[in-house]
Amino acid sequence: MAFSLHGISVTNGIAIGRALRIAPSTLDVSHHLIPETGIAAEQQRLLDAFEIVRQELKNLKVSLPSGSPEEMGAFLDVHAMILSDPILTETPLELIRDQRYNAEWALAHQLDNLLNQFAEIQDDYLRERAVDIKQVVERVMKVLHHGEDHQTFASFCATVSDSRKLSELIVVAHDIAPPDMMRFKELQFGGFVTDLGGKTSHTAIVARSLDIPAAVGVRKASDLIKQDDWIIIDADRGVVIVDPSDLVLDEYRHLQNQRKLEKKKLFRLKHTPTLTLDGVAIDLMANVEMPDDAPAALDSGAVGIGLFRSEFLFMNRQGRLPDEEEQYWAYRKTVEAMKGLPVTIRTIDIGADKPLDGGQSASDAVSPMGLRAIRWSLSEPDMFLTQLRAILRASAYGQMRILIPMLAHAQEVDQTLELIAEAKKQLEDRCQAFDPNIRVGAMIEVPAAALALSIFIKRLDFISIGTNDLIQYTLAIDRADNAVAHLYDPYHPAVLRLIASVIAQAKRAGVPVSICGEMAGELDMTKILLGMGLTDFSMHFNQILSIKKEILRSDISKLRSAVQELLELDEAHEQLELIEKIKTL
Ligand code: PEP
Ligand code: MG
Repeated sequence: MAFSLHGISVTNGIAIGRALRIAPSTLDVSHHLIPETGIAAEQQRLLDAFEIVRQELKNLKVSLPSGSPEEMGAFLDVHAMILSDPILTETPLELIRDQRYNAEWALAHQLDNLLNQFAEIQDDYLRERAVDIKQVVERVMKVLHHGEDHQTFASFCATVSDSRKLSELIVVAHDIAPPDMMRFKELQFGGFVTDLGGKTSHTAIVARSLDIPAAVGVRKASDLIKQDDWIIIDADRGVVIVDPSDLVLDEYRHLQNQRKLEKKKLFRLKHTPTLTLDGVAIDLMANVEMPDDAPAALDSGAVGIGLFRSEFLFMNRQGRLPDEEEQYWAYRKTVEAMKGLPVTIRTIDIGADKPLDGGQSASDAVSPMGLRAIRWSLSEPDMFLTQLRAILRASAYGQMRILIPMLAHAQEVDQTLELIAEAKKQLEDRCQAFDPNIRVGAMIEVPAAALALSIFIKRLDFISIGTNDLIQYTLAIDRADNAVAHLYDPYHPAVLRLIASVIAQAKRAGVPVSICGEMAGELDMTKILLGMGLTDFSMHFNQILSIKKEILRSDISKLRSAVQELLELDEAHEQLELIEKIKTL
């Protein structure tokens, strides 16, 4: 029987396809306590799962085709060895007995312990063996899950080979971590639905860059939607229709075709200069996560990259960070692909919902207010200097800028500038080229930075407002937590006034200011931001053309006073009325 579920809209469009239920990681397991009387059976269930995997590995080894690389057999031997190590079973069996954890929980707990211990190991080769342990545990988890039509994301990605059929599948998951989302870039699914997530969670941001219909925060979706169910995602409204009637399916197919036509039409605007009706030139730049995004950014008509989220280069590395050479080539590839247009590399912004390692458990995650972004970089000067040298070296090949995330204190800016100077000196000593005048900017995403803007304007060359975090910290709501997603309000008077004041102060000081948070790509916000005086926007490249269309029909001279009036309103209903009027100006 058809039913619909409501979540949060994070992308546009319509997807129609069959549900593919996926668990985001091995650690996404059910956690429950078993009754006293069930301990022995639960311990046996765990041991049986180990035995089944042992048998599986044996069979795999025997059935290896002749001529298979030797490493394949050795690889299976290593896994069999890990599987037999009591370290994997002893503690979980104790946890089942003493704590009454279910088998999956006990095993995930022990995996966490082991991964933490491995992360401390100095030797690269040994440290990387953590991956093998994880893969072995995944196999056991899969057997424990047996009977549920559920597979892990990692195992699914590993087995997918025919990408043509993927567009007919809609991924349904409890949550998808940003590093897992990155794998979607290679696999063209029709869309995805998650139980968790907020509008500006990083999972949603990556989804937007994929330009596929999605709905997040659709509570219980992964419980209620069954494998192979027909699903429609109406992404504009964040609605998911499960098991629709033929009539509804036909209607949505018709809408889907209309959307495709509209998109094609929009593409005609690619070479049109971005000018408002009263002749103000607006710069539309792109936000990217990887060097491979640069050609798509150019193709969308972006006049540069306003935000390269460099942390995505550091994820999914099982603790091994990219070295200077690897980063240098990634940044150089990006700046060369942009053919002389500016590229803004944001230094690593790790933490909160972007853990270094995709397998990190929730308890390891750094809080949004913890040692993340520039705070973490300054606490790891060698890592930071490595990144700075890589960016500087790439700056010899195009127009590069450095952007620093989450600044709040003057001393953070000073320390960062000192490290940049040190990185330059190191390159000089090595006789390696870089742009000596590379511009350095601050992300304004902490209310303290917005309120004491002069600290940053004085010291830096440009600023970029990170509205995602600015809203999170101003309203004190975790942007990744869908339990408070309804409080994430870009129209809150405090938020609008802070943004307007940052733009006005920067303009007065003659310091370039842009917005690179999701707000820059929100159609409903375009006229309001123009009215505040914003002329530089950075957003996901697939939003650029629709925002351009809106700008082409905007008249800033008419918007200014209306937006000024909006900034003085406190009550939501008055705001709403005026916002509707502003849209028509
Ligand atoms: C922001 O906070 O608005 C921003 C652009 O950075 P991120 O979304 O990566 O935190
Ligand atoms: Mg941010």
